Amino acid sequence: MRFAQIQLAMPFNEGFDYSIPDGIDVDVGNFVAIPLGNQTKIGVIWGFDAPETKIEKIKPIIAKLDIPRLSNEVMQFIDWVSRYLVTYRGSILGQVLRPYEALLDGPFINRIVLGENSVEKLTQQRQKIIDLVSCPDYAPLTRQELSAQSQISTATITQLLKSGALKELKTNADLPFDPIKLNGKPADLNPQQQAAKNAIAKADGFAPFLLDGVTGSGKTEVYLEAIADILAQDENAQILILLPEISLTQAVISRIEQRFGAKPVEWHNEIPMPQKRRAWRMINNGSAQIIIGARSAIFLPFQNLKLIVVDEEHDTSYKQDDGLRYHARDLAVVRAKFAGARVVLASATPSLETRNNAKTNKYNHLLLTNRFGLAVLPNIELVNLKEYPPPKDKWLSPLMIEAIADSLSRKEQALLFLNRRGYAPVVLCKRCGHRMMSPNSASWLVEHRFSGRLICHLTGYSIKKPINCPECNGYDTLTSIGPGIERIAVEAKELFPNARIEVFSSDTANSPTQVRAIIERMEKGEIDIIIGTQIVAKGHNFPNLTFVGVVDGDLGLKGGDPRAGERTYQILTQVAGRAGRSGLKGKAMIQTFYPENDAFVALLNNDRDSFLDIETQMRAMAGLPPFGRLASLQLMAKDEAALSEAKDIVNNALINAEGIEIWGPAPPPIALIRGWHRLRYLVRAEKNVDLSAFILAWRKRIKLTPKVRLIIDIEPYSFL
Ligand code: ADP
Repeated sequence: MRFAQIQLAMPFNEGFDYSIPDGIDVDVGNFVAIPLGNQTKIGVIWGFDAPETKIEKIKPIIAKLDIPRLSNEVMQFIDWVSRYLVTYRGSILGQVLRPYEALLDGPFINRIVLGENSVEKLTQQRQKIIDLVSCPDYAPLTRQELSAQSQISTATITQLLKSGALKELKTNADLPFDPIKLNGKPADLNPQQQAAKNAIAKADGFAPFLLDGVTGSGKTEVYLEAIADILAQDENAQILILLPEISLTQAVISRIEQRFGAKPVEWHNEIPMPQKRRAWRMINNGSAQIIIGARSAIFLPFQNLKLIVVDEEHDTSYKQDDGLRYHARDLAVVRAKFAGARVVLASATPSLETRNNAKTNKYNHLLLTNRFGLAVLPNIELVNLKEYPPPKDKWLSPLMIEAIADSLSRKEQALLFLNRRGYAPVVLCKRCGHRMMSPNSASWLVEHRFSGRLICHLTGYSIKKPINCPECNGYDTLTSIGPGIERIAVEAKELFPNARIEVFSSDTANSPTQVRAIIERMEKGEIDIIIGTQIVAKGHNFPNLTFVGVVDGDLGLKGGDPRAGERTYQILTQVAGRAGRSGLKGKAMIQTFYPENDAFVALLNNDRDSFLDIETQMRAMAGLPPFGRLASLQLMAKDEAALSEAKDIVNNALINAEGIEIWGPAPPPIALIRGWHRLRYLVRAEKNVDLSAFILAWRKRIKLTPKVRLIIDIEPYSFL
């Protein structure tokens, strides 16, 4: 009798024991159907150890599924990630087996192939269909597809089916994707680009790279050519390109299609299930070769992964902050290690962590120092708001207004950046001082004037803006405090009544189609002034954009986040980098009350390295990442007494350990969300301490009541 441990995509760390009936040939990584209670489940064979269950209680597996097995690399990755994130192996397997429909049979649809009978009355139309279907590279089509491709009615096809000249074949709905072609025109790389491309393409086995180049220096061009080389070396190679924002995918998809004659396979949360199912199947059977995706793509079941590109690697959208808390860039490096693949972290403003790894030679540092061709980096100017304030209740200083007017007079475009959605971040009553808050949350309501609503950006709660103050009933006493992008749009409209102005944020573009539409309008020159949140700062290539104005350069510097300075620097560099990409001279202007701040001085002098050196020293002194490790442990409860009890339980469960400091528990800045009270511990560990092991040992000793939730975040990025 043979036994196996079957891991299910459920919150367990161990596989369950099952027996393997004679005649079923299975290996580690195979998918099997098993009985569990009175249900049938699909799991993965994780090992063939002697069972721990009593043998007579062990049930046999039902069947081995006809799905290619998970590669060893994926299985090792799952084991590693679950341990690192202090979660269950089954939960990580659950990330890999998504969508679950990909594991089931079918769906099947009928497609058309040549039948046995010859054609009666061979009309021209019938001949055309028969020719198409008998073509050696004909991939079976449905009746509708065949009709569309041949431009001949479905009725004619139906007649041919009836006569037996064609027949229908029951086929799996999911077909392979169009194959990649390598005969596209390679870019003519400059010597620096060439050197970077060669280093990546020629690497053997695991090799991490920082591809460090100013915006527009050709990083994308370099990795596309490296992909071409890698595919030429290994025709079955699989490549994963991660991007931080869905809004950026379209541009890269088009470039891949141009270079490789076929679209890459897309993977993110906006694509519908059938498309995901097909992508998953083709990735797992190794036939999908270039995959472009958002952070969750790091869990896809590749068979022959040779390169992962993490574009805009510094972007904090790679960190998932709810559900499973992970950082896709960090996991990408680990995944590449297990796969024996290259990993390229590309950025104009690398994160301090990545830069430090490059400086200490853990990563190979590839530099692109110039913008490609005639494009030059924009001039950056600071506007000291103490010296040049905007008029009362306005937000654009006279210098900024002049610069916008300048661009518009040359028929060029301007971009205004403010990382605040809506009209005003705070609404208060000028009579009684009441502040409009989100119910049961320590969060203010943001005014959205275009929709006439007050919205909580944390919980999504929204109400129509009341006319009377809900506290003192004062008529029309609610006033809007501070600017959001809608308010800037109103101001810009007053200043430039003839300009075509659009607001770009997740409120005005909340689907990939809308995002694409607004980017296209901008590219075509149908917008004169675009006013946006961080969505507009990243990656886009607007050739006629020559002025970028940052409305509030100080916004990112507030709050107790250790990465605040670095992040401000990154976002400002990114947004400034949108200007002057096509050879037109660009200008960026940043409004600030603190022109002496290190981040601004560095930006002004284009001296990223000194800035990052200072930041690095400060982090090293504080023992913060990457010089130490952080984890957060959060307790949440609706009932404050239960939370307080839980705190005692957690405190008592604490174990003494060398090289570990515990800060807290303390309420985070937003201590109440949707009626859940919160408390947080921050754990700081020396770099050589196994922080995950410490947290796991601690967690195992914590026994909480069901009223309390415990959330573990390894390397947290959000401190709210
Ligand atoms: P990055 O990814 O660093 O922002 P891109 O790869 O998007 O830079 O390059 C910026 C622009 O310059 C793009 O339009 C790109 O096609 C062009 N470009 C860069 N390098 C080359 C090259 N070697 N040959 C032709 N065009 C290039």
